Amino acid sequence: MKPYTLLFAVLSAAVVSITAVAPPQALASAPMVKTQAPGYFRMMLGSFEVTALSDGTVKLPVDQLLKTSPERVKSMLAKSQLSTPVETSVNAFLINTGDKLVLIDTGAGALFGPTLGNLLANLKASGYQPEQVDEIYITHLHPDHAGGLMSNGAMAFPNAIVRADQRDVDFWLSEDNLNKAAEGDKDFFKGAMASVNPYIKAGHFKAFSGNTELVPGISAVSTHGHTAGHTSYLVQSDGQKMLVIGDLIHVGAVQLDDPSVTIAFDSDTKAAYASRHKVFDALANSSEWIAAAHLSFPGIGHLRKDGKGYRFIAVNYNGLKS
Ligand SMILES: [Zn+2]
Ligand SMILES: [Zn+2]
Repeated sequence: MKPYTLLFAVLSAAVVSITAVAPPQALASAPMVKTQAPGYFRMMLGSFEVTALSDGTVKLPVDQLLKTSPERVKSMLAKSQLSTPVETSVNAFLINTGDKLVLIDTGAGALFGPTLGNLLANLKASGYQPEQVDEIYITHLHPDHAGGLMSNGAMAFPNAIVRADQRDVDFWLSEDNLNKAAEGDKDFFKGAMASVNPYIKAGHFKAFSGNTELVPGISAVSTHGHTAGHTSYLVQSDGQKMLVIGDLIHVGAVQLDDPSVTIAFDSDTKAAYASRHKVFDALANSSEWIAAAHLSFPGIGHLRKDGKGYRFIAVNYNGLKS
């Protein structure tokens, strides 16, 4: 049988069977459920298993936060069918190397409002327990990345060693800096201290300095600027690579088109842009994956050069078990 004939035969049979069982009347309406699917997405990277975990979304007034005119932001958003405030994903990434279970970033916990703080539930939905996590690598000590270290006043990952760059530790955990900070910025310092200090007290925290391998297959890559110790993590297995880039980008619809646009959260706007430019240029010519904290969940894909900016090609959905 020719392929088309076969396909037609299969479809015809399907139509017959559907017609045979179809109810004579339309079904009664049901209440709308209005919840999203569990927030995890899984893929293999060589022999490593990568699970993107959603902490939720938060509506950000990006026209006020991005360092370009609000009118320009609005017109760039409109090209992506978006408007302000933009519902912005907060993503974290769980890597099972086979030897170690490593979580990169932890979401916001209770620090960033009621629409975030879903990481633990999604981690469990994805088939893991927080007690199984061996290591936690924080891209930087902002509340939407470190806040999830704590849950109901206790260490959410009681068996994990937490790692972050020394420069972020020195800056965000400093009582001096907290006292000197503008009133509106103090919560950033307090949030970092409340999230990390319990792990330090328990002997479960170990800072690192700059580029360094943390476990076989996962290395810290300094991409400072957004914060003084902002770090990306390069995950490599069997020749495949993924760079977990934290906050190198916040608003894809604007900063991919014009990577020179920075955001109010950047500690050092020039350095933040320089890091984005350097990393994105390198990745636009490679087969390396990026995994971003604030691109639409799961935030995994590839970059390609597009005019003066970049195009993000989101990962294709996969059923995994095959
Ligand atoms: Zn940040
Ligand atoms: Zn962030």
